[in-house]
Amino acid sequence: MKDTAIIKEARDAGRSALDEENGKKLLSEYGISVPKSTVVSDVETITDALKGFKFPLVVKVVSRDILHKSDAGGVAVGLQDTEEVKTAIIEMAQRPAIAQANVEGYLVEEMAPTGQEVVVGGVRDPQFGPMIMVGLGGIFVEVLSDVTFRVCPINRSDATEMLNELKGKALLDGARGRLPVDRDAIIDVMMKMGGDSGLLVELADDVDEADINPLIVSDNGAVAVDARFILADTPAATPSQEPLSDESVRKKFEPLFKPNTIAVIGASASGHTIANTFIRRVTEFGYTGSIYPIHPKASEVDGLKAYPSLGETPDPVDYAYIAISSSAVPPLIEAANGRVSYAQVISSGFGEVEEGIALQTELVESARSGGCRVIGPNCLGTYSPRGGLTFPENAPRALGNVGVISQSGGLGTDIVKRGQMRGIAYSGLVTVGNCADINPNDILEFYLADDQTRVIGLYLEGVQDGRRFFELLNRAKGQKPIVVLKGGRTAEGRKAAASHTGSLAGNEQVWEALERQTGCVLAETLDDFLDCLMAFQVLAPRSERPTNRIAMFGNGGGTSVLATDYFARHGLSVEPFEADTIQALEDLQMPPGTSIANPVDAPVGTLQQENGLIAEKVLDAVYTHFKPDAVAMHLNLAAFVGRGPIDPLENLIGAALRIQKKYPGQAHFLLALRSDGNPDVEASKKKYTEMALGVGIPVFAELSNIAIALEALKHVEQFQVTHIARVQMAKQS
Ligand code: ADP
Ligand code: MG
Repeated sequence: MKDTAIIKEARDAGRSALDEENGKKLLSEYGISVPKSTVVSDVETITDALKGFKFPLVVKVVSRDILHKSDAGGVAVGLQDTEEVKTAIIEMAQRPAIAQANVEGYLVEEMAPTGQEVVVGGVRDPQFGPMIMVGLGGIFVEVLSDVTFRVCPINRSDATEMLNELKGKALLDGARGRLPVDRDAIIDVMMKMGGDSGLLVELADDVDEADINPLIVSDNGAVAVDARFILADTPAATPSQEPLSDESVRKKFEPLFKPNTIAVIGASASGHTIANTFIRRVTEFGYTGSIYPIHPKASEVDGLKAYPSLGETPDPVDYAYIAISSSAVPPLIEAANGRVSYAQVISSGFGEVEEGIALQTELVESARSGGCRVIGPNCLGTYSPRGGLTFPENAPRALGNVGVISQSGGLGTDIVKRGQMRGIAYSGLVTVGNCADINPNDILEFYLADDQTRVIGLYLEGVQDGRRFFELLNRAKGQKPIVVLKGGRTAEGRKAAASHTGSLAGNEQVWEALERQTGCVLAETLDDFLDCLMAFQVLAPRSERPTNRIAMFGNGGGTSVLATDYFARHGLSVEPFEADTIQALEDLQMPPGTSIANPVDAPVGTLQQENGLIAEKVLDAVYTHFKPDAVAMHLNLAAFVGRGPIDPLENLIGAALRIQKKYPGQAHFLLALRSDGNPDVEASKKKYTEMALGVGIPVFAELSNIAIALEALKHVEQFQVTHIARVQMAKQS
C-alpha cells in the first residue's frame, strides 16, 4: 500500500477532490509518468522557478472553481521561452472565467512528446467496486463515448482486450501516416491504475472517480498530462464472505434441494390456500419424505397429521414453506429453535414495501436466533426435481442439468413452464424474492459446486454484494456457462458525476464489462434466455475452435436469406460454399429448385427424396468439404402437411444424428422446427422436438433463435480461449 498522505492532506483541508498537481503526484507515486511541473503564483520570480525546465512549456490555471481549464481559457501550450510563459499567465488572468475564479496559482509544466491522446479513468460502482475505463481522447470520449470498462483488478490480457474493443483503435496503429503508438505504455498505465496492486484497487476506499484525460501516448512511452481525482466518502464494496469448498456448499444446500422433511405453514384445515395447493402439488409431484402441516388448532390438514409449531414436529425440518401474513412470520420462525434448515417465505409485505422494511430485518434476526436460513420473502418457492419439490403445477419430473435462480417468482414459473414446453430440463430453480438472507450468490455458489448442474441461468433485478458475484462469475471461468437475464440494465448510472469517467459509467457498462471479463452471457429477453439455456444444456462449448463458420440447411428460401443477414448481425458467418462443396452437392443431382450454395435451400420435394435420407448425403458433403463449426437445420413443418404419404421428418432427424456420430466434435448441430401455430403442426412439432432432444439435438422455434444461441456459445468458447491464454501467460510470468 502506497503512502496516502496526499489524500489525507486534501481531506484535512476539507477538499473532496485532488487538484491537478496533487493528482499527478499521486499518479507518479504509482509509477505513472507525469510532466515535470511547478506551481507559480507570481510572474516576477518565474525565471528562477523555471530553472532546469525544458521548453516548450504549458501553463494551466489552478483553481477549485474551474473544472475544465481549456473551456475557461486556462490552458496555453507550446510556450517557447520564459517571456511567452509570462505573457500567457498575464493574459490568462484577464479572461472572464478566470478573473472571477479563486485562482490558487498557475501550473507550469513541460510539454509531453507528440502522440495520441488516450483517456484512462476509474470509477467506483456501488455494487462491483472499482472499475477501470479506457478510451481515445478528444471527440472519441466526449462525443462518441468510445470507451470500455472492466471491473478491477484487471490483468494485462484484459487491458489488451480493452484497447482492441475501441472503435477508434486504428488511431493507435498509426492511421493517417502517423507512427503506431506504444500500446504497451498504455497497458502499463492501465495496470498501474487497475491491476492487482493498482491505484484504483489499493485506494478503493478513497477514490470515487479518477480521470487521466489525457494520457499522451507517443511511439515510445505515455505521459499523464491531466489528472483529476474525486474522493469517496464511504468505503468500497468488498465481498461479504470467503468462498466455501465445493463439498461444504453441496452439503449446506442438500436440505433445500433434497429435503427429507417439509413443513407447510399457512394451509387451512377447512378452506383452501396457496399452502394447501403446495401440499397437493408436492404430493402429486412424487415427494416421498414427510410433510408436516403446522396449524395452531387443527390436528389434521389435507389428511396429514398437523403440529402446533415448528418446534414440535417429530423430526427436524429441512424445508419449511411459509405462506401466512407477514407479521406472523418472525415469531413462527423463532419458535423453530434450530430445528429448521431452510424457511422459504412466500408471504409479501416485507422489504418490497416501505412499511415492511423493519419487519424484514426482524425476520432475518428471528431466523438467525432460530438457527435457520430464510429464502425470500416475497417469492414463490423452489423447484427441485431431485428432491421431489415443486411450486409450479405439473412441473416436469425429469432431472436436467440447468440450474436457475430467479429474483421474481412469476418469472420463475414461466421459466419452468416455458422451458418444459421447449424441452429444457432443470437441476433446480430457486425463487429468491427480496433476498433478505439467502441471495442469488449463495445459490450460484451451490450450482457451481453441484455436479448435476452444467449450465446456470440467473434472472436478476438488483445485485447485492456485487463483489462476491464478480468473484463467483470468475470462478466459473466459462467452464459452466452462466446466462444472465438482468432487469434494469439500462438504468442511468451516476447522476452527479464529476468526471468524464463517472458520467460514462452506467449500469449497462458494468454488465458489458462483466460479460467480457467473466465469460457470462447477457440475455435480453426471456426468449433469448431460454434459447441460450437450451443450447448449453445439450451442446458443450468447444474452446479449441470457437464457432464462426455456419452451414444452413432446410426448406424455405426466404427464411434462410433473412436468417443469413440475422446471423451476420450476430457475428456469425454463413459464407458461400467453396467449389469442392458445390461439386459434391451437384453430384447428388437433387431436383431443380434446390439451391446448393450456403444456405442450402431444399424444397419439400427434395427433402422427401429417398424418404428423407437425402439429407444425410447433403450433410455428409458439407461436413467433408466445408467443415462447418455449426449447422443450423431448419424445417418448416407446415410445408410437409398434405404432401403425400411420405413423412421424412424422422429420417431427417435420424440423418442428422448419424452425421454427428460420423464426424464427432466437428460441428454443433441445432434444429429449428418452424410451426405456423396450427394445432396439427404444433402437435408434430412437439413430437419431433422430443425425438430430436432425445438424441441430443437442441431444438428452437426459428433460425433467429438459433443465432442467439450460437452467439452465446461462441462468446463462451472465445472466452475460454482467452482464459486458457491468460492462464498460460500467468504461468510464464
Ligand atoms: P482541461 O482538460 O482541464 O481542459 P488539460 O490539462 O487536459 O485541461 O489540457 C487541455 C489539453 O491541452 C490537453 O487535452 C492536451 O491536448 C493539452 N495539454 C495539456 N497539458 C499538456 C502537456 N503537458 N503536454 C502536451 N499537451 C498538453
Ligand atoms: Mg483534461
